[in-house]
Order: sequence, then structure tokens, then C-alpha cells
Amino acid sequence: MRISESKIDEIRSTADIVDIISGYVQLKKRGKNYIGLCPFHNEKTPSFTVSSEKQIFHCFGCHAGGNVFKFLMDYKSISFVESIQEVAEQIGIPLEFEKEYKPEEQSEQEILYEINNFAARYFSNNLLKSDEGGTARNYLKNRNIKPEMQKLFGLGYAFPEWEHFLAYAKDNKIDLNKAKQLGLIDTRDNGTYYDKYRGRVIFPIFSTNGRVIAFGGRIITKQENTAKYLNSPESVIYHKRKSLFGLYHSKEEIRKLDKAILVEGYMDLIALFQHGIKNVVASSGTALTEEQVKLLSRFTKNIIVLFDADAAGQKASMRSIETLLKEDFDVKLVALPEGEDPDSFVNKFGKNEFEEKIKQAKNFLEYQTAQFEAMGWLEDPAKQAEAIRILVRSAALVNDELKRSLLLKSISRKFNMREKILETEMNKVLDELKRLENKPERAPQRNVESMPDAHLNQQSSENKENLFEKEIILLLLEGNENITGFIFDNIQPDDLSNPFYRKLAAEIYKLYLDDVVSTAEIIEKIEDEELRNYALKMSIGQVTISKRWDELSHSGKIDKQFAKHTCDVVKKYKIMKIDEQVEANNKKINSVTDEKALMELMKLNNELQTERKAVLSYDELSAFNL
Ligand SMILES: [Zn+2]
Repeated sequence: MRISESKIDEIRSTADIVDIISGYVQLKKRGKNYIGLCPFHNEKTPSFTVSSEKQIFHCFGCHAGGNVFKFLMDYKSISFVESIQEVAEQIGIPLEFEKEYKPEEQSEQEILYEINNFAARYFSNNLLKSDEGGTARNYLKNRNIKPEMQKLFGLGYAFPEWEHFLAYAKDNKIDLNKAKQLGLIDTRDNGTYYDKYRGRVIFPIFSTNGRVIAFGGRIITKQENTAKYLNSPESVIYHKRKSLFGLYHSKEEIRKLDKAILVEGYMDLIALFQHGIKNVVASSGTALTEEQVKLLSRFTKNIIVLFDADAAGQKASMRSIETLLKEDFDVKLVALPEGEDPDSFVNKFGKNEFEEKIKQAKNFLEYQTAQFEAMGWLEDPAKQAEAIRILVRSAALVNDELKRSLLLKSISRKFNMREKILETEMNKVLDELKRLENKPERAPQRNVESMPDAHLNQQSSENKENLFEKEIILLLLEGNENITGFIFDNIQPDDLSNPFYRKLAAEIYKLYLDDVVSTAEIIEKIEDEELRNYALKMSIGQVTISKRWDELSHSGKIDKQFAKHTCDVVKKYKIMKIDEQVEANNKKINSVTDEKALMELMKLNNELQTERKAVLSYDELSAFNL
């Protein structure tokens, strides 16, 4: 498949890298950039930086970096073309394909999304607008779920009849075979279709981008031999392991508060939402999978797990906690009073009381210990040993070494046991975990930072030169056509003394001649990896000789101060170069004996002085037509 250059340009210039990366990495604004924990290497403090202005990302830890396409290619291990498709889809730019492309595969997904959308609208109308929907409306009213919430979460109702949806789908020429794939209908032995969801309140499940990928249906009247919940099967668009109920609605709040609350059921989540507690996700009653935890970690690494009182709930929660600890989440636990779930609790006691509970959340170790205590395990020596083993095992799951040893210390204090014994136990668990994991480490990359600046240590004049040249490179990486043009009008890449900067400037110059000026595009097109990495690092985390113009906007129209700075840099650099030449010539003049050579040198110096005057008269107003 081929996508035209102009289409790629359109996609590149329409997409916002911060938006796209935010879908995968939790980002925080820091100065004019966004930072987050790098998804390409393991780190505790964020060195992954995204520039919205320049539309690039760069990690100062592992030196991963590039534009929005490069991010998706690396993150998802997909091809360049696939990354373009992905971005295009997210920002809603349709792609036109050339002949060899098979459109069936692409539209297959689209058709499935459309059918789910169609079904969601149908269920929602049943609930909100039909007379027969009264039963479901009453049910939700009794559960204290207000109509605004019903609308917000797209709740619906499936009539008790066997072929109601089927008839409606047929009328609307829905592909029945595909509706079956999505679990909306099924076939009897004789091949005729019937509705899968009957007499149920419907909870659509959304992707993080807000598309309906599946449904959960809950019965509203108890029936023999009928499951309380019915969920969509796995399909091309629905992977249960990878989706979290409620995340689409709560992701902004989770990011904002940098904290999520994990509950079990749909109703718990909606009840909390209704009371204004919106940083909630629901595990839908099963233990969280690694994929779900990874998904959540794009938005926060802090989680409060609401523990159900019943045994099945606790077991699922414990497994979720293990998975969360492995992914370096800071896990806290809250137990609700016997017989209460978040839904009933918040409806009975209100928001403040609930938040009070949340404030009392204990870290998982304290929580577990309290549990063992309550079960009487700590009085029985055999049981106590078992309890300690479980606690050490939980602590061993924490990746952070410092945190782990602190946990060990607190276990040792709590049980009055020597740390050494606990350490031995923990090392056993760690070895076991290591064997299980067997994660390949990312190959160490060359430290780009130490490279061109190494020249700086040689001499002070060279130091100054390097700083100017670095600033010139920085200006070239600003992605402003006027600035780049002005610099190349005055300075040729060959003028630069630092071989590394010279090479980089030559690359940028070549691209400039091809009308490539934007930072993201420059970085995409530099072929040499070293140069590309350096350009990335420079354009995101600059160290400059001058005050940076953070506060200035330079999109489109050049800011006067920005122009002045550029003009100053070019001027000073040129003057410095001229003075160097004059000085070198003067040295020769003192030692040369040949009259003709002397005349030649003096003539050269004269020319240089004239040029110097011309350069001194540069001003940004005329240079940039301001
Ligand atoms: Zn990294």
C-alpha cells in the first residue's frame, strides 16, 4: 500500500503529538513541554519529553525519539505505513489507497464499530423513549441512577422478546453475520437468528477513544438458569484483556488527580460518578490483566483498590494488586464495611463519607497484616509463618529496590523477626520472578550528550565558537522558515568549525532546499542516527547561551524578540569569524617578507573590515521585514 507524500504531510501537520502520545503515556505539562515516564525504558523519574510546539518526543534516558509516527512505530512495533494509518484514524483523516491495497480489512473493523453504534442507539432509545422501557427505567431508578448518568454512560435496555433487535436490524439492512460475531444475535440449531440480550439493562463498553466496542447486560428480574451478566464475546474490535470499563469517561480526571480508584462493578462506577467522584475504573469483577494495568498506567501510577467484603471479590482483588505492584503502581487499599459495596456505600453515606474512607486507605502491606490479624493467623505459629511468606512475596513484587527494602524492614519490625531471614525468603521469590520474567533489556545506546560538547573543553575561544554554533543549530531546529532562511543567507554549513554541527547544518540545509523546514519533518528525514538523536535532544531540551524565548509565541508570525535574538546570534557569530580571520592575517603580515603577499593580505583585511561594518549594521527589522 502507498500513501501519497501530501497525505502524509496533511496527517503530520494535523495530528497533535501530545494528544496521540497521551493515549499511551501519562503526560504532565512542564514548562512548554510535556513530560512522562518513558515507555521505552524502565524509569522512576520522568525523562520522556514531548514538545507540542515542535511535534517531537525525546527521552533523555534512553534517547528514543522522533515524531508522532516514530512513536507509534516503536511503541506498537508497527510499520511506518501502519503508524500513518493509526494517526489518520485517530484524527479522522480518510486515507485514499492505491490499487494494491485491500480495503476489506480496513472496513471490516469500521462495519463492526458501526453495528455496535447502531445497537447502542437502539438499546438507548428502548430505555429512554419507549413505553416498554418503563421496567428498566424503574430498575435504574431503584438503583438510584439518574437519567443524566444513563445518558452519559449510554445505558440501554434490551426488550425481553426473542427477535426484537433482530427485526430492527433486518429493517436497517445490518449484516447479520457480523452482528452475530459481535454477540448481539445468535443462531438456533435450525439456523434462524435470535436476540442474545433479552430483558437486560445494557452497559456499553467504550474504547479509550470513545467507540463502543462491546456490551455488558444485566438481568433486571431474577430468572432461573440465566446468568446475571452477559458480556460480548471477543471480536476484532473487542479484547477483554485490554479494555477497562469506565476509563473513557474517567481518564481526564484520573490524569488530573494522578490517582485512580478501582471498583468491581459497572454500578459501583456509575454511582461514584453520580456523586462527583470521577477518577474511577471498574474491573468488571475479574482480576486486572497486565494489559489493563499497562493501559491504566498511561494515566496514573497511583491506585486505590476498593476491596469487596466477599471472598471471591477479595481473591480477584489480590490478583489485581499483584499485577499492579509488578507494574510499579503505588497501591493502597480500602475495605468497606461488611455488606457494603461502593454503590450502596456512597448512596447511603454520601460523597464526604466516601472520601473520608479513601483518605484512610492503607498500603497493601498494612492492609494484609490487618487481615491476617483479623483472621487470627498471627496467634498461630504455623499460620504466622504462612502470613509472613505471603507478605514477603507481595513486597518482592515491588520493582523499586529502596521501596522493597523499606517494606522488608517494616515486616521485620511488625513480626519481630530478623531482617536476614526475611531477606533470604525475599531473594528466593525474586529469583523465581526473574526466571519467569526473562525480559530482554533494551540495548544500551551511545551517550549522545557527551559527544559534540566534548570539544568544548579544549580552548576558550573554541568554547565560544561552539556555543554560537550550537545556538545556530538550535535556531535552525526551531522550524521557522524565515529564521532558517535568514541563517542560511548569512552562514553556510561549511562555515561552521565544529565538524558535528557542520554535518548537521548541511543536512538541515539540504532539507531546506527541498522546502522541509518543520522540526518534526527535519528529524524524521535525517538519516544518520547520531545526527538525528542529537537534533532531537537539542530541539527538546535546550541549553542556550541566551535567555530562551519560552514566553514568546513563534507560530507563524515571527516575534520581534525572537527575530532580534536570531539576528544577534548571526551577527556576533559572523563578527567573531571575521575577527579571527583578521587576526590570523595580521600574524602573517608580521612575518611575511614578500611585498606582493603583504599587499594581498592587507587587501583581504580591508575587505573583511568592510564586511564587518556591513554585518554590524544588520538589524532584525530589515532582516525580517518587521
Ligand atoms: Zn527512555
